[in-house]
Amino acid sequence: MRATTTLFSLSLLLAVSARNTYRSVLTDCLNTASVPILLTSTTGWADEIEPYNLRFTPAPSVVAIPRTQAEVQSAVKCAHANKIRVSVKGGGHSYGAYGLSGTLVLDMAEFQTVNLDQTTKIATVGAGVRLGNMANKLFSLGKRGVPHGTCEGVGIGGHATLGGFGLDSRLWGLTVDTISSVTAVLANGTAVTASASQNKELFWALRGAGPGFAVVTSFKLKTFAAPAVNINWSYTYSFPTPAAAATAFQIAQTWGQQSAPKELGYGIMLFPGNAFIVRGVYYGAKAKYDALIAPLLAKLKTAHGGVEPTKSVKTLGWIDSLTDLAGAALATPARGYDAHDTFYAKSIVTAESAPLSFEALTALFTYLYTVVPPSSAQWMIIANLYGGPGSVINSLPASTDPSSTSSYAHRTAGYVFQLYAYTANSLPPFDADIIPLVEGMVTAMGEEAADLPAYAPYADPELGQAEAQVRYWGDGVARLKVIKAQVDPMGILYNPQGF
Ligand SMILES: Cc1cc2nc3c(=O)[nH]c(=O)nc-3n(C[C@H](O)[C@H](O)[C@H](O)COP(=O)(O)OP(=O)(O)OC[C@H]3O[C@@H](n4cnc5c(N)ncnc54)[C@H](O)[C@@H]3O)c2cc1C
Repeated sequence: MRATTTLFSLSLLLAVSARNTYRSVLTDCLNTASVPILLTSTTGWADEIEPYNLRFTPAPSVVAIPRTQAEVQSAVKCAHANKIRVSVKGGGHSYGAYGLSGTLVLDMAEFQTVNLDQTTKIATVGAGVRLGNMANKLFSLGKRGVPHGTCEGVGIGGHATLGGFGLDSRLWGLTVDTISSVTAVLANGTAVTASASQNKELFWALRGAGPGFAVVTSFKLKTFAAPAVNINWSYTYSFPTPAAAATAFQIAQTWGQQSAPKELGYGIMLFPGNAFIVRGVYYGAKAKYDALIAPLLAKLKTAHGGVEPTKSVKTLGWIDSLTDLAGAALATPARGYDAHDTFYAKSIVTAESAPLSFEALTALFTYLYTVVPPSSAQWMIIANLYGGPGSVINSLPASTDPSSTSSYAHRTAGYVFQLYAYTANSLPPFDADIIPLVEGMVTAMGEEAADLPAYAPYADPELGQAEAQVRYWGDGVARLKVIKAQVDPMGILYNPQGF
């Protein structure tokens, strides 16, 4: 027993000493290249490595804060020379804290440029910009917008390279679809531009499966004229039984896929206490919206026993609409932003050709109406419409199509469901029973849901790497492996569920 303990202590000592050695080699290299760094002993270290999801406690050895593309190159070369894994921190909002998963973290917070070319209307956006700041700047530069998610603190780096859905995405596409080119640094420190005509394979990989293929330093994004009138709308129902809720869900699910034009951002949200909310944004005039939504409301009212829902319909300008969706001011500090949650989430992507059946929905609602969440944990389900009439997301070629310039895999989706649960006060400790609570939502729906694809931006850390790759990137996995072997044969750039 004592001999085993001694051996264990010795190997621990060797491991610690090896870690200290490579850390000091890496640190020396970064210092020689004059790249600003933070070490575990530096003031502010704890804040620097704190992810959005406090379920995780990442433990990188060094954080580099490059200020220029040349410094990104130097930092990556230091890691490459010493075979050290690098991850990139954009906005830090990965569900699995993957931006902080490397031994060396590159924090892109210094890359805060947002410019608009007034002729082409192409925006140049630095890789450290948060979505709220990007929206504010593009509007002030030319009343322009880019499709993206609702949370102002999410970073463009991890959002645009994996997907990026907003309620305007059926109208304009996902954020990833707006990328016309990127400047980036490869795993060996080489700076490249990737576009539909330059480094095409890398471009295809970066647009959908990006993390782990290169460090993007700057994006060129197509922008759109921000609609002058935006109707932020929601209707809240409460159905007494699982069967009634399943009936209403099926009505809303079908109506969205068959009747929601691309100008209507559309989704269904479920919360504890039988709250059933249909909500979205209409990008157009109020009178048109009223006429469009009336048939859906009539059907849901019948399903609701003739009772009117609680409604909220606001006519807003572009920035006010985004602010209303975020539930917070869009202006967000690049550093010192301190919003958090402690959570676990899964996603499923239903095909337009196979919406959830009444049986699966009844089983889901039976589960939701009876389950007792652990330790007062809270949950929500959000089903956003990605498909439907005219959806730009689905108008683009499948990732496997020879004409495709994007590895984003879900071009025939009906809805993307997010199944999400979190601690009552959003803070640790994370109760491990939250995981089976969420998994139970999917398993309740039976085989129909079990093997569905998943949406990479909602990283599910409970999936093993191979399973995650298939669920996120489907038939694109083989091509992504080939590209990874070409651009990063030593596996320096790290994404735990990527390549
Ligand atoms: C509160 C909240 C709301 C959200 N809302 C939406 C939504 O409405 N719609 C939606 O589609 N998604 C949404 N998401 C998911 C979000 O899009 C992803 O979590 C996204 O990956 C976060 O990007 P980030 O840069 O903030 O995160 P990070 O953790 O910094 O990065 C995420 C991944 O991208 C990599 N990465 C970051 N920057 C770069 C770069 N410059 N080059 C290469 N790789 C890079 C990281 O290494 C990591 O693997 C939301 C997430 C949260 C937490």
